[in-house]
Amino acid sequence: MTEDEIILTHILKCTRADLILKKQKLDPSQERQYKEYRSRRAKGEPLQYILGSWDFYGLEFNVSPGVLIPRPETEGLVDAALKNFKGVDILDLGTGSGNIAITMAKLLPYVQVTTVDTSLDAIEVAINNAQIHGVESRVEFVHADMRDFLVSHEKRYDMVISNPPYIPSPQMSHLPLDVQQEPSIALDGGEDGLDFYRLIIKTSPYLITRGGYLIMEFGDGQAEAIKDLARAQPLFSHREIFKDLAGKDRIILLSTRSV
Ligand code: GLN
Repeated sequence: MTEDEIILTHILKCTRADLILKKQKLDPSQERQYKEYRSRRAKGEPLQYILGSWDFYGLEFNVSPGVLIPRPETEGLVDAALKNFKGVDILDLGTGSGNIAITMAKLLPYVQVTTVDTSLDAIEVAINNAQIHGVESRVEFVHADMRDFLVSHEKRYDMVISNPPYIPSPQMSHLPLDVQQEPSIALDGGEDGLDFYRLIIKTSPYLITRGGYLIMEFGDGQAEAIKDLARAQPLFSHREIFKDLAGKDRIILLSTRSV
């Protein structure tokens, strides 16, 4: 769909086919809304924040400027997680809109998911999304800095999932204008972009069941550095890298020793 079609189908609450075949027209108040959306868009506001919701893995998620906009690459993370998951308990570090946690809970009706986020704004959005998708009884929301959570928590999970912030701090001010409107806390991965991978690879094995998994998305060009971090952690035994649709290394899967 073109951006204009996305806006029109959103305002008219119709499908693209309705738009084209039935030639649905805007009434005067919808027309005003359309003009407002277009002018906000012209000022560089991300379309997703203007609409207030966005599709992820075929499910609609509320999004606000307090959360990262769900990306198609992250659907690949969910694909790989679903393919490899066995067990019951999942931990999602840095849940944002809750897109990963809620999709897993929705598609695997027997799992329990714990999510952690340092932003109360994000937790609010994520709780709302869990309710919309009817999984709130199986998704727990913890308001904490993952750094504190990872070193103080004792429960074990069958899979730890994360799409942590991975933009190197010096690049933050050079991001495209619309990306700069997303929360920096969801994007900034420290000086070399790898702060959260160092932390998670070092501490998460103690929170993973034997033979369980850590699976993470990472940025373009970070695969080698992250593989090195994983090699340096003897508690992980197996490593696998998955590519995104553009053919770039994008996801790492690590498993803990099973004996
Ligand atoms: N889990 C959310 C996502 O993958 C948020 C990630 C983040 O804020 N870095 O979109």
